[in-house]
Amino acid sequence: MKVVVIGGGIVGLTTALQLKRELRNIEVTVLASNFDDTVSHVAAGIFRIGSSYSGPTEEITREWIRDSYEYYDDIRKTVESPFAGVTTISGYLFANSSPETVKNHWMQDLVPIYRRATDEEFQLVQNNWKYGSFFTTLLTECRLHLPWARKKLQENGVKLEIKEINSLKELAFDWDLIMNCTGLGARTLCGDTHLVSMRGQVLKVKAPWMKMFFYGELDTYIIPGFNNIVTLGGSRNFDSENTKLCPYESAAIRERCENLLPGLKKAKVVREEVGLRPHRENNVRVEVERIVNGLSTAILVHNYGHGGYGVSTAPGTANYAIKLAKEMHKSSVAKL
Ligand SMILES: Cc1cc2nc3c(=O)[nH]c(=O)nc-3n(C[C@H](O)[C@H](O)[C@H](O)COP(=O)(O)OP(=O)(O)OC[C@H]3O[C@@H](n4cnc5c(N)ncnc54)[C@H](O)[C@@H]3O)c2cc1C
Repeated sequence: MKVVVIGGGIVGLTTALQLKRELRNIEVTVLASNFDDTVSHVAAGIFRIGSSYSGPTEEITREWIRDSYEYYDDIRKTVESPFAGVTTISGYLFANSSPETVKNHWMQDLVPIYRRATDEEFQLVQNNWKYGSFFTTLLTECRLHLPWARKKLQENGVKLEIKEINSLKELAFDWDLIMNCTGLGARTLCGDTHLVSMRGQVLKVKAPWMKMFFYGELDTYIIPGFNNIVTLGGSRNFDSENTKLCPYESAAIRERCENLLPGLKKAKVVREEVGLRPHRENNVRVEVERIVNGLSTAILVHNYGHGGYGVSTAPGTANYAIKLAKEMHKSSVAKL
């Protein structure tokens, strides 16, 4: 069976890795317009799923989240973890507006620790916060993880090729199974008007003393990653596709983070980045269809629209996408 994965971000590469693991006798190629500068590269990579995140049903969404957590946690327990950029991290979530903001129904039963912050813990940051939670979770640094995943794929005979795709239907001539993991690119490829850009800007600073993450309100976050680089964020500009850095936004992010932890005033900026999150209204799209082009037919599985939670949930949606592909393949073989 000839399989092509379109997309070289976290969703495409985890899908390709899972395909090699799950299916025998397949030839896999990954095609992407870009492997080195994707939205995934901008992410802080913390495993934290927002309450609004949604798949087709609550049960399936839970399955995606659980599978994803287990996937990264399995890597974390191996000697590969520093190369794969996967580690554990703990920290705090503070809020004033409502106690609901520091709760999280996806995370509370999943991670090893999720509890209310104690009175003493509120003193760890500036400002008088009313509500707080402490939790332990995972972090996947895509700047390490994506090259690691590409290496693993190549070692397993997967071809990686830089190529822009203009039509999914045309791929039916050459491939039996097509996995569409194009993030925001799916908007044009599929004419999907539910997919919109959610622009985000972050600063990456050098702050080796920072060991824990901290969230405040107004999308304020401080997330330590690998190599002493800490992500300071952030912003969420709905339907904005401006990839230029906005100096006012950077200044506002710094101010909010420094108000929380004044020590960050000493942190040198390493780089500033903008990413366009592939936000899909209602839910992430993981769906299968059969495409026909003349005498050629192929199974097409969509796996895109992960919004602000794609690093966290990519392995789970990849599993589900492969399950859909297998079911469709079985039903077509049965019909023959
Ligand atoms: C500031 C910021 C912080 C974030 N922090 C986190 C976080 O802490 N945790 C978390 O879980 N998520 C986070 N995210 C969200 C996460 O980055 C995204 O959900 C995720 O990267 C989406 O991955 P993707 O593979 O779908 O898309 P992308 O990474 O954008 O990859 C899409 C791939 O498809 C290719 N492509 C597109 N169109 C075509 C085409 N026509 N032909 C060929 N190739 C094509 C592209 O070249 C690329 O290789 C953050 C995002 C931002 C912007």
